Parts: sequence; C-alpha cells; structure tokens
Amino acid sequence: MSVLQRIVTAIRNWFSRVVLRKPEPEPVPEVEVSRNPGLTCPECGSHISVTMSDLLHVGAVACTNCHLVLEVDMQQSRGALAALAQLESSLHEAESLRRA
Ligand SMILES: [Zn+2]
Repeated sequence: MSVLQRIVTAIRNWFSRVVLRKPEPEPVPEVEVSRNPGLTCPECGSHISVTMSDLLHVGAVACTNCHLVLEVDMQQSRGALAALAQLESSLHEAESLRRA
C-alpha cells in the first residue's frame, strides 16, 4: 500500500466516524487515534499529522520532528486524490449543515 493510500484510508476512517457520525452504541477505543489522521514517519517513527488540504492543495506532508518531506505523486495518486476531494466536499457540506 502506498503512503497516500494509507493516508486516505486513515482519513476515510476518521471522516466516517467524526463527520458522518454513524450511530455507535459503544465507544470505539481507536477514535482518539483516528481523530488525528496521519502516518508514522518512515525516517524517525514520529506521528505525522496529515490534513486533507495538505494532500489536495499542498501535495506534500512534512514530519515535524525530522523534517522529512513526503511528496504526493499526483499522477500515480489521481484516483486516491479524487476520492479525497470527494471526502473534502462532503466535509464542507456536513459543516454547513451543522451550522444551519
Ligand atoms: Zn520524521
């Protein structure tokens, strides 16, 4: 699995729990982790927080600990980025619904 695919999966999990709020009778222990989507730095093992806009608009994520920069291969990742763009627009929709 590519780095981007892992990020997209993590964000998708986080998104479905936090934004879509599927009714869950029991608290899920991983919620704490999935509220902070990201990945483990391959260089130093630190947690790198990744936001959707980092991926969609910046095209790279950086480790705050060792400053390793992971660039998104826009060509190869087109499918994953499209899925992410869809998530982002759903997120905006959910936010405007919440404010209404
Ligand atoms: Zn690092």
